[in-house]
Amino acid sequence: MKKVEVSCNIIKDILPLYYDDVCSHDSKKMIEEHLSECSSCKLELESIKGDINISKEDINKNKTDINVIKKMSVSWNRSRLMSFIKGTIIGSLLIFFIILGYFGLFHWNITSVPTELVKITNVSEMSDGKIVYYSEINDGYSLNNLKYDMDKEGNFYITPLRPIIKQEVGEINLFEKGYEWIDIREQELYRGQEIKSIFYGTPKDKILIWKKGMELPKTSKEIENMFSY
Ligand SMILES: [Zn+2]
Repeated sequence: MKKVEVSCNIIKDILPLYYDDVCSHDSKKMIEEHLSECSSCKLELESIKGDINISKEDINKNKTDINVIKKMSVSWNRSRLMSFIKGTIIGSLLIFFIILGYFGLFHWNITSVPTELVKITNVSEMSDGKIVYYSEINDGYSLNNLKYDMDKEGNFYITPLRPIIKQEVGEINLFEKGYEWIDIREQELYRGQEIKSIFYGTPKDKILIWKKGMELPKTSKEIENMFSY
């Protein structure tokens, strides 16, 4: 066969075939001849070898990983005790989530009552400085909790809370209608911060009860007596 001058580009194009040993005998000869004289194409071949070696390593590693998982699942399935435990755990988790769901929906007080359902009246100041107000929620559902919160600006929030699934007002629960008091001095002491205003509701939906400098009428004797124990 006549010796032909081939360009490096052609050689580089067919080098992968040469590496995989799928090219013709003539091509093979041609490439080998070229490689013996051309260091650039030699380097190219080395880099192909390098690439393929890395991916071969990866494949082997993956195979080992799969084997480990297979072995794990085999021993897992083999052991009856393990499947018993597995069943118990799944069963317990299921019960746990059902209970959690029940308490979450019926007993977890996370929804705040919209202030359009709330009426705040008779705000007054007791002789010891506590602030008293009358709150009324008239939508027929129970109020389950009052949460006290304060932001950095000194805004104090009294947030009325109920669960996602609200309960109808019972006979005994009088939380929905009645007088409540808030001890400003005690709260300031506890939070180490001055209270500048008191709101009923949340920062987004609120009714102002009191703010600094606001003059409040004195609490009547009758109501004052209600809170003296
Ligand atoms: Zn070359």
